[in-house]
Amino acid sequence: MQAIRFHGRGDIRLDEVPIPTCGPDEVRIKVAYCGICGTDLHEYLAGPIFVPPEGTADPHTGAKLPVTLGHEFCGIIDEVGSRVVNHEIGQKVTVNPALDDRHHGHPDCEQCLIGCQNRCERLAFYGISEGGGGFAEYVVVKPVALIPLPPKTSLKLASLAEPLAVAAHMVRISGFQPGQNVLVLGTGPIGCALILLLRAKGANMIFASEIAESRAAQASTFGADLVINPLHQAAKHDSPTENGTPAQPNPVLEAVRKTMGSGAHVSFDACGLQSTLDTAIECTRPGGTIFNVAIHDKPLCINLNTLVLGEKHLTGGNAYTPADFAEVMTLLETHAEQAAKLITSLIPLSQAIEGGFHELVKNASAHVKILVQAGERNAD
Ligand SMILES: [Zn+2]
Repeated sequence: MQAIRFHGRGDIRLDEVPIPTCGPDEVRIKVAYCGICGTDLHEYLAGPIFVPPEGTADPHTGAKLPVTLGHEFCGIIDEVGSRVVNHEIGQKVTVNPALDDRHHGHPDCEQCLIGCQNRCERLAFYGISEGGGGFAEYVVVKPVALIPLPPKTSLKLASLAEPLAVAAHMVRISGFQPGQNVLVLGTGPIGCALILLLRAKGANMIFASEIAESRAAQASTFGADLVINPLHQAAKHDSPTENGTPAQPNPVLEAVRKTMGSGAHVSFDACGLQSTLDTAIECTRPGGTIFNVAIHDKPLCINLNTLVLGEKHLTGGNAYTPADFAEVMTLLETHAEQAAKLITSLIPLSQAIEGGFHELVKNASAHVKILVQAGERNAD
C-alpha cells in the first residue's frame, strides 16, 4: 500500500509499504480520508518534535522512524482481531488518535482515572508517535480508539472530528459560558473551528483578529461578528513601527473596548505570537481568561502585572478527551452544513505531498482544511 512517512526533518516520502497486519486485540481500518494538520506540517518542517527522533523509539509505543503521518482520519473497518468484540467488518468509524493507558494495557494513571486522558503520563498519537497513521491506505488501531458512525454519516465530515475535538476541549476548559463575548486571535483551521463551536454554544459577540484576507472571509462564514486586520487598520491611524508591528492604538483593542465594554470574557490565542499574546491580555476584561491554543517554538515575554492588576487568568489546553469527541459527534449532526465548510480542498494520497503539504507551506492562508483521500473506493 502507499503511505506518507516521515523520515527526518524536511523529508517525507510516499512509500510503498506492506499492508499492516491486524493483531488479535486490534482492528484494521481501510482509510477513507485524513486531514492535514498544522502539527503534520510542523513535524515536516521543524521536526522531529513529537515524532521519535532518529535512533530512538517512542517510550510508550516503541515506534521508530520512519513513521506514517496523519492523525485526523476515518474509514471503514476491514479486519477485526479475534479477541475484539462489538466491532464488525464494514462499519464506518472515525478515530480518536490519542493513545493513553487504556491503549497500552497499563493500569490507569492518576489523570486517566479522572477522565483527563489527554494528560496521561503515557500519551501518544497515531500518525505522530505511533507507527501507523492516516496518510496510508490502511491503518491498525486499538478498538478503544474507534468511534462508530451511523451508516449515513459522511466520511468527509467524520474526518473533521479530531480538529473539532481540539476546539471543543479548549472551549470547554476555558470556562466560557453562553452569552459571553469572546475574541479569537488567528483564524486558521483551529481558529475557525473555535468560532464555529463558540457560535454553536451560544456566544454573544465573537470578534476575530486575522491578517490574511482570505482567512478573514472564512472566519465570517463560521460566525465571527467582526474580523479585524490589526495591520491594515493600524495603518489608518499611523505607520507601522520599524519592526513591522502595528502602530498604536491597537485596532483590535479599540474595537473590543468600543463594543465589549471592559473587554472580552475569554480571548483565545490561536497564533502564539508575542503580539497576539499581548493583544489577548489587553483585550480581556478584568476577571476574564486568556486561553492559549498555540504550540510555541520559543518562550514569550510577559509582564505578570498585566494579569495581577485585573485578576486575569492565563491558561492553555492540549488535545482532547473522549468526552470532547462525544460532544463533537453530536455537533457534526446538528451543524453538518457549517462544519463541511471547513474542508476547502480534497487531494488523492498519491499527490498529497505536493498538492497538500507543499501547497500549505506556500499558500496556507488559501485553505482551512485539506483532506487527503486515501482510499478511492471508500469515498462518499
Ligand atoms: Zn494515564
